[in-house]
Amino acid sequence: MEMADVIVLGLGPAGASAAAEAARRGCKVIALDRKAQAGLPVQCAEFVPAMIDADLAGVVRQRIESMATFVEDDAPDLKPDFPGHMLDRAAFDASLVEAARRAGAQIRFSSLVGRISSDGTVTLSNGKELRAPVVIGADGPRSRAGKAIGSVNTELVETRQITVGLTQPHTATDIFLSAGIPGGYGWLFPKGEVANLGAGVSPQSKARLKSIVARLRASQRERLSSEILGVTGGAIPVGGMLKPRGLLQDTLVLLAGDAAGLANPVTGAGIAAAVHSGRLAGQAAATRSAEEYQEELEDVYRAALERALRRRRELMTVKPEKAALRRGWIAYPEYWQ
Ligand SMILES: Cc1cc2nc3c(=O)[nH]c(=O)nc-3n(C[C@H](O)[C@H](O)[C@H](O)COP(=O)(O)OP(=O)(O)OC[C@H]3O[C@@H](n4cnc5c(N)ncnc54)[C@H](O)[C@@H]3O)c2cc1C
Repeated sequence: MEMADVIVLGLGPAGASAAAEAARRGCKVIALDRKAQAGLPVQCAEFVPAMIDADLAGVVRQRIESMATFVEDDAPDLKPDFPGHMLDRAAFDASLVEAARRAGAQIRFSSLVGRISSDGTVTLSNGKELRAPVVIGADGPRSRAGKAIGSVNTELVETRQITVGLTQPHTATDIFLSAGIPGGYGWLFPKGEVANLGAGVSPQSKARLKSIVARLRASQRERLSSEILGVTGGAIPVGGMLKPRGLLQDTLVLLAGDAAGLANPVTGAGIAAAVHSGRLAGQAAATRSAEEYQEELEDVYRAALERALRRRRELMTVKPEKAALRRGWIAYPEYWQ
């Protein structure tokens, strides 16, 4: 049985930020991820808003200035003031892991967490056991730590994304809203000479994702080159915020990022919240202030996530005509009313 002060499950943006923060505060931190290396494979459209509180040196691939929303076949509505960055997400995740390593956290890849027992013992798939007074679950939408304390994401969106060549420069994130993309939306996000083109839908429509993305690609063919350079996908939690703390006997469990349900139920954006909540979780682990951690997350995220959840559920219960699609998207004033 190996002992630590804090065990972090997952080395995405939430876990790496948590590990760095707890280590900086003097904790012995062991951080585990089943991946072989940081950030790969990339399962992300790679957009972050300009106001993200993270060091982006060396990981930005292009600036975004605006958002263009296409509702069915209508001409796009342009939201001019929508600044952000397209990241190299693998490099971003790797830089956060490197910061955690520099802060003194023990970083262990190729470490699949198989089980978390009712007493908080963390068991890896190779049988190795670890224990700590605090376990941080930053292990994504289907978090095992969350499951262990009964805080589980019950609503997910399934996605498919291709990377394709872009024949002309573009500085907007393009959003495609349609009744033909149920429970989600399509996107084309430019990244220099390529673009991430994808769609997310409710799990019941997962089988249709391939044809939805193919249709989107066909509709944009004039500005795309023919070769597909990559394919990815993954689940996004869209059920809203979960209780981010629990106890397994004496072990305190804190959830951060997607594991805490902090991705936006409408946009699916979760990188900024993962970094922020991870940092707060690392701090709470070091100071054993779980209640304050929950309060801070409630203050910052609850209202926005509840509005998004309401809008998403409204869309799911009506026949999504154009007016309903607009009300369900952040670019339109109706969304905020
Ligand atoms: C297709 C797609 C596009 C997206 N596009 C955007 C976007 O443009 N902008 C945005 O802000 N957000 C986007 N998101 C959401 C964003 O990727 C997540 O919100 C973000 O990654 C959450 O970070 P995290 O650290 O909480 O979780 P993750 O990044 O999912 O990290 C969790 C880590 O835990 C590890 N793990 C899981 N289970 C185990 C286990 N049992 N043992 C060991 N390790 C484990 C995983 O390997 C992973 O590295 C997108 C998501 C998808 C799927």
